[in-house]
Amino acid sequence: AKQPAEYIWFNGEIKPWKDATVHVMTHAIHYGSSVFEGIRAYKTPDKGTCVFRLQEHNRRLFDSAKVYRMTIPFTLDQVNEATLEIIRKNDLQSAYIRPIAFYGDIGMGLQVPFGQETELTIAAFEWGAYLGDEAIKNGVDAGISSWNRLAANTMPTGAKAGGNYLSSQLISMEARRHGYGEGIALDRNGYISEGAGENIFVIRDGVVTTTPKTAAILPGITRDTVMTLLRDMGYEVREENIPREAMYLADEILMCGTAAEVTPVRSVDGIAVGNGGRGPITEAVQEKFFGLFNGTTEDKWNWLTPVYE
Ligand code: PMP
Repeated sequence: AKQPAEYIWFNGEIKPWKDATVHVMTHAIHYGSSVFEGIRAYKTPDKGTCVFRLQEHNRRLFDSAKVYRMTIPFTLDQVNEATLEIIRKNDLQSAYIRPIAFYGDIGMGLQVPFGQETELTIAAFEWGAYLGDEAIKNGVDAGISSWNRLAANTMPTGAKAGGNYLSSQLISMEARRHGYGEGIALDRNGYISEGAGENIFVIRDGVVTTTPKTAAILPGITRDTVMTLLRDMGYEVREENIPREAMYLADEILMCGTAAEVTPVRSVDGIAVGNGGRGPITEAVQEKFFGLFNGTTEDKWNWLTPVYE
């Protein structure tokens, strides 16, 4: 791939991008044994470049590691500081940041040696709108996947682990093959779960519903942000199981995630959502969300961490 930034933080050292490599026998390549995060930093008018919800993202990194009994040989504070450091090193104004903890070249055994520590790397680079600028304005066409999301107590979807993304790849590959911009999976009970890399909100008659944590989702930090902003704006937000047909009957649907930000869904399985464009509540919450970064939404929740000060 083309080199998107100069440096990568690698086990506590700053390395040139091209030297931040691992061996082919890396455990994580063979067995998916990694946990990671996706974080964004935005250029704000008042506080300069700020990381959005740094603490929550890196806390989730440690939570994901805990589920898999992985030992990351750094503290949460150290990882937060390293996240800021690699943005500064690359002199970035806005960034997508990818911390990943993984088992390295520790031998072929599936069983990890007792006391084995993970490697930890953090990349940071400029990355635009994941589903495209056009989609943020006009919405994506989504399709329900024939692949279900992981069943409860098979692979934990609440941990952001590398192996889970084989499920996401099946969902998004199928969607794109059918001409959709993104795929949405159902859980094993047939309820709406999540997009390949986004949580889902369904709106009808002014009531906002999102899928509960029991619907095989990664409980997204953007999901939490959207719920908080909507409640702050006076909307009722419910977490409940959503049947497939509720998507066909919705006035508005939005999907959200760190990469996808807040994106309207304009059709599902070829059926127009509402009037087939961006709905008013979606537009209002987008304005609040992007307002956190352009200075029009007050950061009452202390979600922004300045990078350069
Ligand atoms: N679900 C999945 C499967 C994801 O990969 C992501 C992106 N990390 C999300 C939901 C949204 O999570 P977040 O808002 O924390 O980025």
